[in-house]
Amino acid sequence: MPTDKLPSRKEDFAEWYNQLVIKAELADYAPVRGCMVVRPYGWALWENIQQALDRRFKVTGHVNAAFPLFIPMSFLEKEKEHVEGFSPELAIVTIGGGEKLEEPLVVRPTSETIIGYMYSKWIKSYRDLPVLINQWGNVVRWELRTKLFLRTLEFYWQEGHTAHATSQEAEEETLRMLNVYADFAINDGAVPVIPGYKSESEKFAGAVRSTTIEAMMGDTRALQAGTSHFLGQNFAKAFDIRFLDRNNDLQYVWTTSWGLSTRFIGAIIMTHGDDQGLVLPPKLAPIQVVVVPIYKNDEEKSLVMPVVEDIKRQLTDINQGFRIHVDNREEVTPGFKFNDWELRGVPLRIEIGPKDVSKDNVAFARRDLPGKEGKSFGPQTQLLAQVAEALMTIQASIHNRALAFRESNTHEPKDLEELKTIIQSGWAFAWWCGKVECETRIKDDTKATPRCIPLEQPGGEGKCIVCGERSTQKVYFARAY
Ligand SMILES: [Zn+2]
Repeated sequence: MPTDKLPSRKEDFAEWYNQLVIKAELADYAPVRGCMVVRPYGWALWENIQQALDRRFKVTGHVNAAFPLFIPMSFLEKEKEHVEGFSPELAIVTIGGGEKLEEPLVVRPTSETIIGYMYSKWIKSYRDLPVLINQWGNVVRWELRTKLFLRTLEFYWQEGHTAHATSQEAEEETLRMLNVYADFAINDGAVPVIPGYKSESEKFAGAVRSTTIEAMMGDTRALQAGTSHFLGQNFAKAFDIRFLDRNNDLQYVWTTSWGLSTRFIGAIIMTHGDDQGLVLPPKLAPIQVVVVPIYKNDEEKSLVMPVVEDIKRQLTDINQGFRIHVDNREEVTPGFKFNDWELRGVPLRIEIGPKDVSKDNVAFARRDLPGKEGKSFGPQTQLLAQVAEALMTIQASIHNRALAFRESNTHEPKDLEELKTIIQSGWAFAWWCGKVECETRIKDDTKATPRCIPLEQPGGEGKCIVCGERSTQKVYFARAY
């Protein structure tokens, strides 16, 4: 069991992250370079993310289906920008069952093409629209520089694919799902995000417009945490997805796609984590409450354990219970257990020792406030209400802390020189004319890119931070993962 200390985040943020993922047993390196094994603790976190999103997808009228892992190579070639964008990252199967295949098969990097092909068979009339399908699955992109959860050859995600009768409906869907992602990130992940549009050069290969939710990580770099795309009629034309409208005219559909992946686990780690380890948002944490019994001998144990059993019974109420774990390991000390669960980011710890038993108390320790500050005591009764209150407080508190961090590290530069300084340790919020030359200039000078053009604009107009031309859009520039 790992006991050696993590590097501090200040000292080496990248190494802190790499070691934390391994030590907290979220994931491990696979024998194939760049692949990831998601361990049970990490998968439990992903399952909670899945449930939180899936609930929202269903409420907004979507259904789930499953499409194949293999896509004929010729499908990808049908949409020019799409194939150009994805070609360098493709894994291609040329042999099946010992025989050379007539047509190479691509291991899906994303499923617009195969789903577009199927939609052209299923959609005939305006009565068939809209089609609102999501799939949960895995995809493969042959990345060169990889990092667990953030960028791996194979990753898990959901991809929604919808088809609509009008451009307006498809644009509305694109924003609806962006808002679903933002709502999930903020309210369940406690990750403050800024929803906005991607610049031309940052958009999805094959999209007319891409939108994103951007989050600031603990080292002030930006992370794209979810995206949705308005695909116009690009894929409808490539795959001949047409329908007879109310006037009996044949029309191409308008499509969208949207995805959020296991990358979001990286966002949670880097938004909330501290030098002791993970800090998980209560709504998504695999274990919300850990109970640590404290005793030195059998006599104390016989006092403490019945109370522990009672706590467990109170908190695992079938209707309103919590995800709780009792750490009754005999071979390690309570102090070791405290560190272990802090490393794993369990939001709330309940300690119960002989003193607490005699006082009819339990001790609470909040993960987000290590040490004395996060300690409190409460009666052994009505634990459901006490724990619910504590978890709600933690959920709000880590969100507000992350939001305050982003705000204190976001600045408005008055000129390009100032922008360059700001980018070293934060985000710059500046007017941008929209020209690619100005974007490239910033990228070349600072490695920062326009992360998003926020939906919510301050209004008015200003001068492009690079060329000085008139601009009506303010943009976040940052270095990104
Ligand atoms: Zn400009």
